[in-house]
Formats: sequence, C-alpha cells, structure tokens
Amino acid sequence: MTNSTQELHLQSLSELASTLHSKKASAVEVAQHFLKRIQADKTGAFLDVNAEASLAQARSSDARLAAGTGGCLEGVPIAHKDVFVTRDFVTTAGSKILTNYRSPFDATVVQKLAHGVNSQSGAGMVTLGKLNCDEFAMGSGNENSAFHPVRNPWDATRVPGGSSGGSAAAVAARLTPAATGTDTGGSIRQPASFCGITGIKPTYGRASRYGMIAYASSLDQAGPMARSAEDCALLLSAMCGPDLDRDSTSLDVATENFSAKLTQSVKGLRIGIPKEFFGDGLAADVRNAIDAALKTLESQGAQLVPISLPRTELSIPVYYIIAPAEASSNLSRFDGVKFGHRAKDYTDLVSMYKQTRTEGFGEEVKRRIMTGAYVLSHGYFDAYYLQAQKIRRMIADDFQQAFALCDVIAGPVAPSVAWTLGHNASDPLADYLADIFTLPASLAGLPGMSVPVGFGDALMPVGVQLIGNYLQEATLLNVAHQFQLATDFHMQSPQRGAAL
Ligand code: GLN
Repeated sequence: MTNSTQELHLQSLSELASTLHSKKASAVEVAQHFLKRIQADKTGAFLDVNAEASLAQARSSDARLAAGTGGCLEGVPIAHKDVFVTRDFVTTAGSKILTNYRSPFDATVVQKLAHGVNSQSGAGMVTLGKLNCDEFAMGSGNENSAFHPVRNPWDATRVPGGSSGGSAAAVAARLTPAATGTDTGGSIRQPASFCGITGIKPTYGRASRYGMIAYASSLDQAGPMARSAEDCALLLSAMCGPDLDRDSTSLDVATENFSAKLTQSVKGLRIGIPKEFFGDGLAADVRNAIDAALKTLESQGAQLVPISLPRTELSIPVYYIIAPAEASSNLSRFDGVKFGHRAKDYTDLVSMYKQTRTEGFGEEVKRRIMTGAYVLSHGYFDAYYLQAQKIRRMIADDFQQAFALCDVIAGPVAPSVAWTLGHNASDPLADYLADIFTLPASLAGLPGMSVPVGFGDALMPVGVQLIGNYLQEATLLNVAHQFQLATDFHMQSPQRGAAL
C-alpha cells in the first residue's frame, strides 16, 4: 500500500478510499495532488478544469467524511468524458457547436458517482474536470476533437484511441485514478486497450443515458475506465441501476456489488475463441500478446473452446449505417436555437440553421450526418437501413449460439496497437475498419471489456477483449481480476512516454 502524499496517484480506488477514511489525507489534499498533475499534463486529455469547483466538492466530501456519512468512494477523484453534462464544468462533446455550453443539470451517471440521485446517496467522488473526446464521440483516435487531439502517454506521437481518448490517456498518465467513458461501437474498450488500462462497457441499458449527449441512442452506453478490474468493479456498481423515469431504455435491473463477486476461480470456465477474430487482419504483435494471455488463463484452469461469429465482417457496414442514421436524427437538435453556437451572419431562419451547422460541426460529424440522412431517405431506407437492422438481429443471434458453447468470449480489441497521429487522416474508412472487433458486441448490446495483456510493436499496450452474455458483467470483471492477480500489465505506467 502506497500512502505518502507524493504517491497518491499510484493508489488504487480502494486504497484512496481508505487513505481518505483513515484521514491520512483529506479530500482537498487528494484533489490538489491530482490538479497539480493535470496542470503539468502534456497529453491534452482535459478540455475543462475548474479547480474551484473541484475543491468545493472536496470540502463537502471532507465534511461528510468527518461526519461519518460519506459514500463508498467519498472524496476519491474522477473525471468525466465531455459527453456527460455537468453543472460545474463546461460540456462540449468535443464540438465547437457547444463551445462554452453549461448544462443546468448533471447526468445521472455523474450524479450517482458524486452526490446521488433523488434521496439515494451517491458514491461521493470529486470531479476533477472534463475529458477530451472525438466530436460527439465519433472516431477511433481522438483526432476528431474540435479542440485538440489527445496524445498517447506511452508515445506522444501516437493516438490514445477513441472516442474516449482523453479518459484513457488521463488514467494511463495518472492524472486521475478513474474516468467515465462512453462506448457506442468500441469507445471504452479500444482506447483502454491502446493506453494499457482496464475498461468495461456494460450491457446496453445498465447505466442511464440521461444527460449523456446522444450519438447513436440504440448503441450508446456509459462505463468506467480505470487501472484494474477491481477499480472498474467499484465504479460500475456505483454507476449502474434503473433510471426508468428519465431514460426509456434503462433496464429495470438493480445494480450489483461487483466487487464482492471477484472471488471465483476461472477453473472450468469455457472461453470461446471466435475464429473470425484471429484472421489475416490481425497484426502479429497483437496476436502474440493475446495468445500469451489465453495461455495464462488456461494455466489458471480455463478451457478454450473454438467458436464462430460468422457475421463479424458485416458488423462494419451495419454499424456505419445504423450509427450515422441515429446520429443524423440526434444531432438535428443543434440548430443554433436552443444550444451553443449560433452563426452571426444569416438572412433568414433556414440560412441561420445552415450557417450555424456549417460553422459548428467538424468534417467527420458532417460526413456522418450526410450518410445518415442518405440511408434514411425515401428510396434508400429499405436497401440500407432496414437491411442493416435485419443483419443486426442476426449478429445478436450468432452470439446466443456461441454462448451455448462458452461462458465468455475472448479476442483482440483492435487489429493493431495505437497508430501514429495523422496516419488515417486522408482515409476515414481506415478508422472504421479498425472497429471490426468491438462493433459486434455493441450491435448486440452485450457487455464487453478490455484488459491489458502486454505490449506489442514499439512497446505499445495491447488489450484482450472479453465479451459476456447479457448482464454478465460480474463474470467479465471476475475473469479480468483473476488474470490481473497473476499478471502486472495493468500496473505498469508509461514513464518512458515523451508526453510525460
Ligand atoms: N469508432 C466508432 C465510431 O466512430 C465508435 C465510437 C464510439 O464508440 N463512440 O463510431
């Protein structure tokens, strides 16, 4: 256990909680420690920091700790992806169209992690700020942020992954012990993999979407990103739970004490290995790291079972029809009337809409809106959107067949390690193709996780993806935890990174 003040950033969430409960450090001191690190940050992970607001929250935490009324993570810092709306911090979703936008309320997930919802008290965490992301969470490298890209703490010339790139980089660089992310088609798992941290996207509907700026509503899901499965378990228990009045797709399923379920040996666990995840497209360095991890799990008593997810390749066209279709509808609310930016020069209402959106949205967002409007348009709807919905159902069915043979599925998160900044700049399709292994679970609404399993080319981190059946987050977290008991990949920090 590391307890000196200099080492607060190396403590796990439960260590920080006990440091605070035993008054070895106050919440204000802990917040100041991290705020100082954030000030010296060179990764570009943060979009908004408001030390005054963070310290005010920390003072409330100290009062609750003194009174013995604190939540389970009272005073422990966290930072939120900039798609969660927050009262104390600006929320932009990484877009110019929301420059300086301030929400009148906190997202449910933010409330639950902090002060609580309605009369139910929250975890008591202190918010350090808002984290950079791809504009409206559209991207795989965080290069689509309208403000600035994020650099990978392991190598500042490389991307941290996307769209929750700020979240992954901030945790990896020890600027915050934990972060929230959102995952529509891989945006928690892929940046977690690229930055060597642990992240889990729960079953669709487990965490409330209320106050999460919508990208593709039938896919968007919030989840925690932290160093270990143990930390993710604590966070996920605090984040999940029904929010039926405010999110119509919220599942009416009570949250679980995921931390209490990290005790099961993996002996006899059947791990499905989809052959489609290990084809020619997978880089050898990633494959080697995954193979080694599977061997470790085998040596712990798990059994590897060959399975097939035959429509894996189709998940790319299916996702890149459905997600833009939903985005084109969701983003119609940004028209210069109610939120954020409004163009200065216009002649009438329609020209105001046009000018505002032309100025406010970035290139990739415009591309998705155009694609979405096209696949939903009269004459093309049946050929594209309807067809994609049918195949989406088949992809979900394929998983159910696979889960008849295995308890969890394991494979790569991404086909390669993090690429260099600008590498895909002239070819947006290259980014889309790199999502191939994360999209299937997203389309099926299944929980998925990334767990650090080693290092590939250029010593960049590699993560293994674990996919579970609906509501099997506890199983995923437990498998990850058992693996982390036997390995220390999740404990390594990117000290050699030029960004640090
Ligand atoms: N890369 C995918 C996209 O651009 C996934 C993004 C996400 O999960 N938010 O849509």
